[in-house]
Amino acid sequence: MTSVSQLARQISALEISSKPNTAGTRPPAAQHQKSASQSNVSKLLSKYAAPAPFQPTSTLHKASSASSVTNKPAPAQPVPSAKPALDIGRYDGGFELENETRGAAVTGEAAVELALDSSVAFERPTREWHLTDFDIGRPLGKGKFGRVYMVRTKTEPHYILALKCLYKSEIVESRVEKQIRREIEIQQNLRHPHVLRLYGYFHDEKRIFLMLEFAGKGELYKQLTKYGSFTEKRSSRYIDQMADALMYLHAKHVIHRDIKPENLLLGINGELKIGDFGWSVHAPGNRRKTLCGTLDYLPPEMVEGRDHSEKVDYWALGVLTYEFICGNPPFEDLSGHNATYRRIQKVDLKIPSKVSPEARDLIIRLLQYTPEQRIPLTEVRKHPWIVKYRSKGHSTSGLA
Ligand code: ATP
Ligand code: MG
Repeated sequence: MTSVSQLARQISALEISSKPNTAGTRPPAAQHQKSASQSNVSKLLSKYAAPAPFQPTSTLHKASSASSVTNKPAPAQPVPSAKPALDIGRYDGGFELENETRGAAVTGEAAVELALDSSVAFERPTREWHLTDFDIGRPLGKGKFGRVYMVRTKTEPHYILALKCLYKSEIVESRVEKQIRREIEIQQNLRHPHVLRLYGYFHDEKRIFLMLEFAGKGELYKQLTKYGSFTEKRSSRYIDQMADALMYLHAKHVIHRDIKPENLLLGINGELKIGDFGWSVHAPGNRRKTLCGTLDYLPPEMVEGRDHSEKVDYWALGVLTYEFICGNPPFEDLSGHNATYRRIQKVDLKIPSKVSPEARDLIIRLLQYTPEQRIPLTEVRKHPWIVKYRSKGHSTSGLA
């Protein structure tokens, strides 16, 4: 069976190919139809875990009018395959419906700022993409600036991706043009098994589309809500993967600054993926005093408006460890923001007795007031609580 990383490698190969030679051969846009048995995600994933390459659909698709953002001639049909395709679910027409009612064309400086197209990117140009290049499947979720859908490339080998739409006018209204640009630029240059890949992006007058790695098991936050908390084994494995990903990011001088369960997704094998680089920055030279991130995950130096470094992510890892095991963040104070701030400043940490001594030790070592005293990530990965639960041969990237 092909692994996710093999699949990712194949997709990345797509990126460096030049413009498509398929102008005359590209299949028409999809007419999305419901399959007889709409698989639920877990069934789908266990049955089709990382097939590579994905097989072409046995049913051919016809053009969907509104999804077209180009005027290319109608191309030939793909060759039908006897093998079943990975079911991407039923499309509800959301991209087109929303495009009629939401957002306005953006002009002027903002339009230039948001003219995001990875095919013309200076550093890593990918091929030119259009909405018509994808069969669109089920909705995966709604973000602040638009919807996210499961999609499949129409051309072989029919890669599965998550396509996230962002409305330019709403980005401009929220004054986050620069932040979005930075998020995209940073994420596109990252390649790590526990960092959600951004394969490419394209835009039309109203929207930006991000071609993201499909996180087959969805949001980690949903799992945490469902179970209340995680077992120490599960928590330890996630923290190991997080530490691995953070070491990679920090080596690339990227500070995430917004680590929290809501920004973590799960891959098709249940592995953790850091998504959402909205608050990340390139360090150094960009040590900012901005107050950002969810209150509960802020370290003392950010609460106090002091300079901060990549060690903010160490603190957040401690908060995450606590929340995974206990079900709520350590400094949460329902009486209000000020109370939470005070608890963070005092490092008012109370660890329930159900937490094992090893986990307690790691939490305390991460949640140190002084950033320099926080346990380094290399040490986190060697910590007894992490080593104890690590499965053999699992998540060893970057591990000494
Ligand atoms: P929010 O502020 O609500 O987090 P956002 O703009 O950051 O919104 P996302 O969180 O990226 O948007 O996406 C919205 C939802 O779509 C997610 O909560 C998740 O359920 C789903 N989703 C996003 N990206 C993916 C992906 N790559 N694979 C699977 N599902 C995804
Ligand atoms: Mg999000």
